Amino acid sequence: MPKWPPRWSEIKDADVLAVMERVPRHRFVPEQYQGDAYEDRPLPIGHGQTISQPFVVALMTELLELTGESRVLEIGTGCGYQTAILAELAEEVYSLEVIPELSEKARRQLAELGYENVHLRAGDGWYGWADKAPFDGIIVTAAAPAWPPPLIEQLAEGGHLVIPVGPTGWDQILWRGTWQEGELQKQRIGPVRFVPLVSQAQYKDSE
Ligand code: SAH
Repeated sequence: MPKWPPRWSEIKDADVLAVMERVPRHRFVPEQYQGDAYEDRPLPIGHGQTISQPFVVALMTELLELTGESRVLEIGTGCGYQTAILAELAEEVYSLEVIPELSEKARRQLAELGYENVHLRAGDGWYGWADKAPFDGIIVTAAAPAWPPPLIEQLAEGGHLVIPVGPTGWDQILWRGTWQEGELQKQRIGPVRFVPLVSQAQYKDSE
């Protein structure tokens, strides 16, 4: 099991650190990258997508401030690694993935590992999952060109939306938005680099 590097002193939440040590990342990493599964960096998972860097997974998870009663929505299931981390800390996890093959593969992997509180669906995450809303936490693991209004609408009072916003490749900023008394309070976390959120709706909706 992993021994993550010293930079991880930035992560203060002991529950998040414990889960990061427990969840077997190698089960989500393709055969040819098995030797790198516990390196602190992203790796290819096919379809031009990546499994996120573990430090970024830990940071984004910590920002959600989950409890055992939280209902969480994830946009960008990918291989399902972040989904597993969330499933360890929250009550129910809903996760959307736009590439059906990845969603299906993640479903099998998460079932093999015994996670029963995850609900996966293939589809465009820009719109969220309205009939399961509101959510105590929403995490977007692909860079959005703008804040998706449907996700903001699906936050519970006091709920956090953790999201990288910015153009493809460059100048992406990780934000945490908190829904409080009818307003979204935005906190800038820092620069990050993610694959793009691909959505037919984003331009139309963000006007
Ligand atoms: N959460 C993953 C990271 C996956 S990379 C992990 O644990 O490592 C981001 C994922 O977002 C990719 O699989 C990509 O296909 C997906 N994605 C991109 N645009 C999307 C959209 N509009 N809706 C849902 N998923 C999307």
